Amino acid sequence: MSTANASTAERPDAAGPIQFIDLGAQRRRLGERIDVAIKRVLDHGKYILGPEVKELEAKLAEWAGVKHAIGVSNGTDALALALMAWGVRPGDAVFVPDFTFAATAEVVAWLGATPVFCDVLEDTFNLDPASLEAAISKARDDGLTPRAVIAVDLFGQPADYRRIEPIARDHGLKLLADAAQSFGASLDGRPAGGIGDIAATSFFPAKPLGCYGDGGAVFTNDDDAAQTMRSLRVHGQGSNKYDNVAIGMNGRLDTVQAAILLEKLSIFPEELEARQAVADRYAEALGEVVTVPSLMAGSTSAWAQYTIRTRNRDALAARLKDKGIPTAIYYPKPLSTQTAYRNYPTAPGGTPVSAELAEEVISLPMHPYLEADVQARIVTEVKQAISAD
Ligand SMILES: *Cc1c(COP(=O)(O)O)cnc(C)c1O
Repeated sequence: MSTANASTAERPDAAGPIQFIDLGAQRRRLGERIDVAIKRVLDHGKYILGPEVKELEAKLAEWAGVKHAIGVSNGTDALALALMAWGVRPGDAVFVPDFTFAATAEVVAWLGATPVFCDVLEDTFNLDPASLEAAISKARDDGLTPRAVIAVDLFGQPADYRRIEPIARDHGLKLLADAAQSFGASLDGRPAGGIGDIAATSFFPAKPLGCYGDGGAVFTNDDDAAQTMRSLRVHGQGSNKYDNVAIGMNGRLDTVQAAILLEKLSIFPEELEARQAVADRYAEALGEVVTVPSLMAGSTSAWAQYTIRTRNRDALAARLKDKGIPTAIYYPKPLSTQTAYRNYPTAPGGTPVSAELAEEVISLPMHPYLEADVQARIVTEVKQAISAD
């Protein structure tokens, strides 16, 4: 997820170039408020763990309905901090979906543990609970210790926690929700961030709630895990900061980024509504010609991506590119087929759905400032490209 254009140019007209994610439009809307927020930090000078970080943490915890939210350096470190807090180590198996961004599995390998790739569901693209259960038994048979599952809320929709939570509980696994793409979404009224023993999110600029650089957060109701992660975030420091009690990292969120996020959070609920309106218009216009995303009953999406499925996806991408419409492929290769990951185990039966999705998915422009006339242009071109096949 990186196709972010932070240009602050004037709004293009409906016939002009189309942005995949238009951060410039949001910047124009927020205007001076961001400048004022940044200047406030420059004036007080508390660049590291300053007051804006605490204020943001309180607001994030309230949003997610949890006791603790901790601002961290990025979404990848957020995932790593959770596994470190649980003491994940060599010999442990951590179950991850095969169809996700590399960071989900990378952090497992950092700790010397074994990522085990599970398949995903056809309709939601999220972790398949049956594949997870099969992978747990196999890992145990292979002499690994099943320790945790990382469920990813892909493209903004929460994973099927109704079925994943009982599996994790029955097998004594910790549940880490990779909510990097889903902050702002919910399942059965539970907000992303509030689901899982620990949840991790990212504030990378192109995520639904993005800052102007790298940032992330972890969320939990577990007092001990929260205290451990706060310590690990600052090199594992103890109550005496020159007596480190654990091997940690530099995992702090910058005060400037927290100040920016506070401004962005204030318009975030409206942006989520605007994203939903964009998704509704796509579904209405394209539902007959391609496979549009489907939400589980009871879930809402933060619409980090609007990802459709179609055969001949590459031809569609090429035609849209010719017409000035940017698209992106998340993800063209399942992790288990990538060079760095192909020697790790997969669930029994492999990951055929992940392989199929990697061939057929394509993401269309999606952001809260995608206006109806511009979107109509995109829809027309998608339909024409499909019927030309
Ligand atoms: C973006 C992303 C991450 C990593 O977040 P960074 O802030 O870029 O480190 C992890 N998992 C998923 C699913 C993501 O999309």
